[in-house]
Amino acid sequence: MKGLYNYERIKIEPKRETTLKLSSTNDDKRAMKIDTDTYYTQTEHRANLRSKLYGTVETDICIIGGGLAGINTLLEVSEKNISAVLLEENRLGSGASGRNGGFLSAGYYVPIKRLEGRLGRKYAQDLYRLSAEGIEIVRRRCQNSPQTEIDAEPGIVRMSWGKKENNLKAQIDYMNSIYETKLTYWSKSKVAERYSSKKYSDAIFNPDAYQLHSLNYIHKCAVDAESLGAKIFEETTAISITKRKSSYIVCTNNGHVKANTVVICTSACQNHVNTKLYNAILPIGTYVLLTEPLFDRLTEAIRSPYAVSDSRRVENYYRPLRSTQILWGEE
Ligand SMILES: Cc1cc2nc3c(=O)[nH]c(=O)nc-3n(C[C@H](O)[C@H](O)[C@H](O)COP(=O)(O)OP(=O)(O)OC[C@H]3O[C@@H](n4cnc5c(N)ncnc54)[C@H](O)[C@@H]3O)c2cc1C
Repeated sequence: MKGLYNYERIKIEPKRETTLKLSSTNDDKRAMKIDTDTYYTQTEHRANLRSKLYGTVETDICIIGGGLAGINTLLEVSEKNISAVLLEENRLGSGASGRNGGFLSAGYYVPIKRLEGRLGRKYAQDLYRLSAEGIEIVRRRCQNSPQTEIDAEPGIVRMSWGKKENNLKAQIDYMNSIYETKLTYWSKSKVAERYSSKKYSDAIFNPDAYQLHSLNYIHKCAVDAESLGAKIFEETTAISITKRKSSYIVCTNNGHVKANTVVICTSACQNHVNTKLYNAILPIGTYVLLTEPLFDRLTEAIRSPYAVSDSRRVENYYRPLRSTQILWGEE
């Protein structure tokens, strides 16, 4: 990871017309559309499409789904010398993982004080530490990647929405002392120096949070896992899982995987191999937008390289890209 604020005037052309077929349950209203050409697919660096699975393979662990959950699991077990096979119905990262905001930070959607209230401080600290460990793992995995591929840049600013300065210093002190974060305070004037917006007052800066090209991150993890012996099959749908005495048979559209353990990483995708799990998931729709290249207009309005979120309940988040575009979303 290196130099911030290093925008390049690159022109992004649509790389290909991507029309990937959705499988069997096409009528499912919860299905995500995956045929959209995105910023991420236009700037992806990937190996050739891997082959489909034909015939039968045997492995210790069969992972279903090639998003962030699946690919990180694959790399993690491969690093521990456990044999693993990953099945991806479409292309790696074609779900939410390869088309998201690219924000990476520790913690959970539930505010930390509420976690403490529910679970006690000690447990909340353990949970927070676990998520911080996740950041560290991703950071390590991004290393040795050419800067332009994953574009992992540290620093997320959380703006206070509104005119009044908030009691952020107390929040920062609390987080730094109880959760060992390294948050710093940005006064209203510091924020105004860097962002031409009247909507913000003061802010919290988190140097241990990142923005990254999540699709290229997935591709790098995939190559790293393969170099350790893992096998990946794309355009391969897991259709059913059958338990045998001490193993499982995962049936796909053209073959089978015999595995001791199966890890289902299919998120809210419509293609369910486990109905109980599928019914326990509540899918939500959320979107990101991309502006046109803004060239000097970007640096006139935003004089800072960091990713930004704000303090509203339904927050806006955005990040300036090298191409001088802004990737923007709402949560
Ligand atoms: C617009 C948007 C912005 C977001 N922004 C952020 C953000 O900035 N930061 C953040 O932390 N989170 C963000 N998220 C959430 C984050 O992207 C998801 O939580 C995460 O990507 C989920 O990863 P996953 O691997 O569980 O699922 P997915 O990425 O959905 O991967 C599941 C994979 O399983 C495959 N699959 C499904 N069924 C089968 C089958 N039967 N056989 C084989 N393969 C199958 C799918 O094709 C898919 O590739 C965002 C989400 C969205 C939609």
